Amino acid sequence: MKFARIGPRGQECPAAVDAAGRYRDLSSVIEDITGIDPRETREFDSVDIESLPVLPANARVGPCVGNIGKIICVGLNYTDHAAETNSPLPAEPILFGKAVSAVNGPYDDVVIPKGSTCTDWEVELGIVIGREAKYVSEADALDYVTGYCVVNDVSERAWQKERCGQWIKGKSADTFAPIGPWLVTKDEIADVSKLALWLEVDNHRFQDGNTSSLIFGVEYLVSYISHFMSLQPGDVIPTGTPAGVGMGLNPPTFLKPGQVMSLGIDGLGRQRQRVVAFEES
Ligand code: ZN
Repeated sequence: MKFARIGPRGQECPAAVDAAGRYRDLSSVIEDITGIDPRETREFDSVDIESLPVLPANARVGPCVGNIGKIICVGLNYTDHAAETNSPLPAEPILFGKAVSAVNGPYDDVVIPKGSTCTDWEVELGIVIGREAKYVSEADALDYVTGYCVVNDVSERAWQKERCGQWIKGKSADTFAPIGPWLVTKDEIADVSKLALWLEVDNHRFQDGNTSSLIFGVEYLVSYISHFMSLQPGDVIPTGTPAGVGMGLNPPTFLKPGQVMSLGIDGLGRQRQRVVAFEES
């Protein structure tokens, strides 16, 4: 099952993707798409998706998870990305928060925040939690996961690295968390540890990775994080980015207004964002 949320910001309606790739209105079946208990996603198999109303093809696609409680990101979780940032491989997962006010639709504009000179890109596999997870074992971890999605962990590098304290400063500007287009349930992904993921800016491919290079995999991360905090339905865990971010280029290269980011992950769909300058309203 591929879930989506369609409509204006704050008024998205739950949807499912049909066999032809169209969005079908799921509001007669479920109130919103947030963390769906993975024990219940099978119940959607009895829903005749093809009989539901088709949503307009030009409607906005919102973030594929509504009512996100927290975004817990994993840093330096690909061997090649750790190398390009001259960072040692972490002994344990590096965790940092990203403000939920940064959440954005997959095709919405990304705004370079006021005063930013180092806005950068990061394609990531996102894990969507479907049930409360507290002290769960690695063996049981997937029982708490609804599925996966694409996340662009947009980052302001100077604010992340040079402004003292925690990375959250550089990770949390409004529009810095495009999520979607789809929340794809686990059963549709044959092997989450073998997914190609890529990102282009103005059609030049900068990131071309594979989740096989993750240092800490999905089960490990869910279990690990659940020993520090409970994970709740609708929480999202972006799992880290492969090599090819702007900060790692020689010379470092950052986003400019007018550029377009395109990114995707095998089986999870594609995002596309125009980069725009901040404007005082
Ligand atoms: Zn990241």
